[in-house]
Amino acid sequence: MVAPLRIRVYGDPVLRRVAEEVTDVDGAMVELCEEMLTAMYDAPGIGLAAPQVGVSQRFFVYDFGEGPGVLVNPEITESDGEWTYNEGCLSVPELSWEIVRPRRIHLRGYDLHGNELSIEAKDLEARLFQHELDHLAGKILLDYLDDDQRRAAKRILRERAMSGPSRPPRAGDGLSLP
Ligand SMILES: [Zn+2]
Repeated sequence: MVAPLRIRVYGDPVLRRVAEEVTDVDGAMVELCEEMLTAMYDAPGIGLAAPQVGVSQRFFVYDFGEGPGVLVNPEITESDGEWTYNEGCLSVPELSWEIVRPRRIHLRGYDLHGNELSIEAKDLEARLFQHELDHLAGKILLDYLDDDQRRAAKRILRERAMSGPSRPPRAGDGLSLP
């Protein structure tokens, strides 16, 4: 039996690395996507980017309620509007903040079969994709906070790291973004 994937948390350097383009989708990558989906549903979350499981490559898995999907080498080509939403991240467990992002995006990428995708997304879907794209760029939610918020968040994360393994997620975490 395969050991479940470990979701990397804040402090792990892989979360700060800019992920590399995927040049070839092989069987190992397809299998990894399945394992990532399992880890994402278990968390629970609605998206998980490869760097969050220690793989510095440009793809992520997601399911915002309409079934599982994978996006390979995604790129946002247009965005507009503005929307504030309470956003969380599986790599910064149990914390969330009001984050402003564009409400609508146009995104291009590929599926696992190499088909080109062109997606118009808005609201939660658009937010999820922007959040995952950030992970591929080595960016995390803390980068959006002001100095006071960031200091408070780091203090909580430090205290948590010292008190050992993380506690089980609270009920209600199901809506948090990865
Ligand atoms: Zn995240």
